Amino acid sequence: MAGQDSTSLSGWGRYPSVDTFIDRPESRASLLQAVQNSGGTNSSGAGSGDLLARGKGRSYGDAAEAACGQTVLMEKLNRFMAFDSETGLLRLEPGVTIAEILQTFIPKGWFSPVVPGTKFVTVGGAIAADIHGKNHHRDGSFSNFVTRFWLLTAAGEIIECSRIQNADIFWATIGGMGLTGIIVEAELTLSPIESSYISYKSIRADNLTELMGLFDQHEERHHYSVAWIDCLAQKNSLGRGVLLLGDHAKLTDLPEQLKNHPLTLKPDKQVTVPFDMPSSLLNRYTMSTFNSLFYAVKTNQEKIADYDSYFFPLDAIGSWNRMYGKAGFIQYQCVIPPAASKQALTEILNACSQKGWGSFLAVLKRFGSKTCPSNTSLSFPIAGYTLTLDFPVKASLIEFTRKLDELVISHGGRVYLAKDACLTPETFRTMYNANFENWRQIKHKIDPDNVFRSALSQRLEIN
Ligand SMILES: Cc1cc2nc3c(=O)[nH]c(=O)nc-3n(C[C@H](O)[C@H](O)[C@H](O)COP(=O)(O)OP(=O)(O)OC[C@H]3O[C@@H](n4cnc5c(N)ncnc54)[C@H](O)[C@@H]3O)c2cc1C
Repeated sequence: MAGQDSTSLSGWGRYPSVDTFIDRPESRASLLQAVQNSGGTNSSGAGSGDLLARGKGRSYGDAAEAACGQTVLMEKLNRFMAFDSETGLLRLEPGVTIAEILQTFIPKGWFSPVVPGTKFVTVGGAIAADIHGKNHHRDGSFSNFVTRFWLLTAAGEIIECSRIQNADIFWATIGGMGLTGIIVEAELTLSPIESSYISYKSIRADNLTELMGLFDQHEERHHYSVAWIDCLAQKNSLGRGVLLLGDHAKLTDLPEQLKNHPLTLKPDKQVTVPFDMPSSLLNRYTMSTFNSLFYAVKTNQEKIADYDSYFFPLDAIGSWNRMYGKAGFIQYQCVIPPAASKQALTEILNACSQKGWGSFLAVLKRFGSKTCPSNTSLSFPIAGYTLTLDFPVKASLIEFTRKLDELVISHGGRVYLAKDACLTPETFRTMYNANFENWRQIKHKIDPDNVFRSALSQRLEIN
């Protein structure tokens, strides 16, 4: 880091920003050099600099920045290494994005087995956060499709990790937020598709009870499910929303004009938010108008959509995070176990609507039982409902999220580290409790000098 200038870096929510030194290795050799320079391979090098891998920086809070240390951008390590067209087994470098996987493999009839709400995430980031998609109720999270990966450790060794080999490190790295080392190569299985289209339907619900009833009634029959909630609705309408159900369209589902080219890619078209919008634009009035319009328009429809519009509508607006103004925003995502979901969601939505703090997009999904089988992982999904809310950074935000944390904890839930910017060491430990203690033993074994640290791990005292 000698002679380098530090740069201010943040996650997608642009809050908080931290000073860090940036490295952008273009080969495995230069990556190894970056680890050496940081003191990572030197047993006496602890404290000579923190180190952390960063993918596309699509985590919202402070998980992908090494505060005052070396943040290693993995984006140039993005080669495909091997593909088996019989089984869908793909070996690749961790800087490859979901967008690049789709671009390359949709025309061959394969799809990423799990996609988040943006395609601009890397495979390294997807493993480190153990990301989930709209198909968690059926397929579980990303790690379910990862067969093995190779990890660069603080000792400068590259070790193979799988369910059989170095299994403890495999599980600690899944959901481990980059704190066990740097994934330098990975292997995962893609899913076969007949077309690049999604057949979907939307069903409107007048309140939370109805919405949860719709999940019960329809979800099992569909590959993908997600609900949008109007979080400013109150009283009898509390939790009103629209459930969107989707499936990969088969050839026979397609209209005649699409049948000749069923595996078409969507050309990338983006409009970009050119500057920071004044945060005052997102007030109770504009949010309430937007939410009412969405509720009115997205009524019971059945349609065929291309994969891009269905999975990644926000990607069509470049830098949409600027809409929240210079101060940035946080995304609060929690999950609540099934038995407590209804009560907890009611309390959280009440807290938002009473405060008049809507969220432009409030999203509800259900996690199924295929959760991470290891008790040494910090993987976020547990069975239950997961609610996602955006809040602009403003006075009393932290006070409000603390209140939400209390509600979540009292119902046995937890907050997603890939989105977090506000938890404390105490609330984090209560939420991740036993798994954290088990995970920590593996962290101490593989990174005894705590070389791999992020602003998040410092804030939450994860070491
Ligand atoms: C619009 C939007 C929608 C989203 N929707 C979802 C969703 O539906 N479901 C979901 O689960 N998440 C969702 N996310 C969050 C996102 O999927 C995760 O934060 C993901 O980790 C981001 O990947 P990235 O490549 O940008 O990683 P970064 O944000 O750069 O890093 C995330 C973590 O991964 C670690 N990491 C990155 N590369 C490596 C590597 N090679 N080796 C070891 N560790 C590494 C970093 O240290 C960091 O801790 C969404 C984010 C956005 C902006």
